Amino acid sequence: MTFEELGLKSGVLKSLKTLGFETPTPIQQEAIPHLLKEESDFVGLAQTGTGKTAAFGLPLVSKVEEGRKKPQGLVICPTRELCLQISKDIQNYSKNVNVNTVAVYGGTDIKRQIQDIKKGAQIIVATPGRLVDLTNRRAIDLNQIDWVVLDEADEMLNMGFKEDIDHILDHTPLERNVWLFSATMPKEVASIAKNYMEQPLEVSIGHKNQTNENIEHIYFTVSDRDRYSAVKRLIDFNPNIYGLIFCRTRRETAAVAEKLGKEGYSAEPLHGDLSQAQRDNVMRRFRTKAIQILVATDVAARGIDVDDITHVINYNLPDEIENYTHRSGRTARAGKHGESLVLVTPRESYKIKQIEKKIRTSFTKGNIPNAKEICEIQLMKLVDKVITTPVKEEDMAEFLPAVMQEFDSFSKEEVIKKFVSAEFNRFIEYYNRAGDINAKEGRGRDRDRDRGERGDRRERGGRRNDENKTRFFVNLGKRDGLNPGGLLRVVCDSTGLKSDKVGRIDILASFSFFEADNNLADDIIQKVNGADYEGNTVSVEVTKKKSDGGSRDGNRGGGKRRSGGGGGHRGKRDRGFSGGGNRSRERSRRR
Ligand code: AMP
Repeated sequence: MTFEELGLKSGVLKSLKTLGFETPTPIQQEAIPHLLKEESDFVGLAQTGTGKTAAFGLPLVSKVEEGRKKPQGLVICPTRELCLQISKDIQNYSKNVNVNTVAVYGGTDIKRQIQDIKKGAQIIVATPGRLVDLTNRRAIDLNQIDWVVLDEADEMLNMGFKEDIDHILDHTPLERNVWLFSATMPKEVASIAKNYMEQPLEVSIGHKNQTNENIEHIYFTVSDRDRYSAVKRLIDFNPNIYGLIFCRTRRETAAVAEKLGKEGYSAEPLHGDLSQAQRDNVMRRFRTKAIQILVATDVAARGIDVDDITHVINYNLPDEIENYTHRSGRTARAGKHGESLVLVTPRESYKIKQIEKKIRTSFTKGNIPNAKEICEIQLMKLVDKVITTPVKEEDMAEFLPAVMQEFDSFSKEEVIKKFVSAEFNRFIEYYNRAGDINAKEGRGRDRDRDRGERGDRRERGGRRNDENKTRFFVNLGKRDGLNPGGLLRVVCDSTGLKSDKVGRIDILASFSFFEADNNLADDIIQKVNGADYEGNTVSVEVTKKKSDGGSRDGNRGGGKRRSGGGGGHRGKRDRGFSGGGNRSRERSRRR
């Protein structure tokens, strides 16, 4: 099938030629003719990377009235990055028609966005919070909206945007059609379809909850203390990696990126502690491949839409299986092949089965490469580099005679060995001392590991107990436009915590409360304080404990803390290695 056969406007077809889109992807073949011809609701189950932006963007650009400069199509998506990406894509589709698209998202000057809307736009691409803000300020007229696209609906609900989405859908005309796109179909997404749609056409590319078939899923069993060494080996074994490493917390993200950076790897962190400008800068450098590896939290990596990612490394598994689909979906985009590598401890390996069942795909068990395998790969990379490096005869002419004289007494073999050793010895020395770090599956293999994991489990168990909750006071309330979704977003974005870590939320007129586990209190106080909520500075304090005063919690908290046994061991293997071969030293600066 060709794009011409789908029924798109000629101006749009012309733009597609410029973009080099020749054949519609499966989701485009299914969605575009239907969305163009029928005035009906639509549910598209498709991963990122399947071409879904064009699946809704092309019909939208073809359908809006060029002469009517009022918002007619609304695209709602979870993050600023995705919002910018989608609006850029739609602007590219509209190059040869008279359709304006404006992107509105949080964390940036709202006045400019209001002016942009006033200038007249047929399509608005928005993040939910900012759009609600604009509707409250009456800066946007949703009365003439004909189509609402909910993109990455599952992500938006994960991020606590349910209320905002309800608000937006309630403020659009009843006759509008909703086009919902989601990678997975949890019951929360199904309930949006139920509440706001009438007999939608449902199109599923692949099974529901299934990931892209071009992704190879491989898991490695290592003990907790060897996670970092394992990641290094995986990178060393894949020297041309262009990858994303997912960690669970900001602290871990920062630590892993810093360690990799210090050891000469081209790696940088992406997490909520960075300012928007810093994040944009990191993303720009990653996109242009100035950075080889991005170490990110799930929250910060939402909406990352970069082609060519070769590997996703799960430093540890996400708490929720749905997030695994989102992580692995960052690779193997646009028909390419990619690998999603997962590190699990022996005790966590049962989770692999759960994921396999949920996403209907199977994992291969991998072995962390040993020293010999890695050295072989690195050595061949070095040899390849030497062979393919152009020789600048003229520039060297002046110095060559003296150099040649120095090597006069050596044979060809000796010269080669010496050059290779000069580059490679440190690498070999590091790996000579490195043993096998693959852990056997099963229980009781490693005392440190067991200690760590028991510690983890005790902490998790503790979270279920209400006595272990801390109640926080927040200086903003309804009067400041705060709602539960907004509060959840501020807390999760600032701390990197998942939304299920935040318990009860009470929004009052001029202040609010929320609860979270005691062991998260320091982090929350430190990171949420000073955060921005729609132009207001958030301040958070711990309130008096609901139960029986605070003193007991301090003791209990101390007793629950992990023994920290792993820390001492962790550094040993890594010491002495100061970067493999030709990696640039300049990258080792601290961030
Ligand atoms: P998406 O799933 O919308 O994020 O798209 C993934 C990537 O595929 C983007 O880089 C698109 O530009 C590209 N793409 C989408 N549709 C096509 C197509 N029909 N032909 C070629 N590339 C496409």
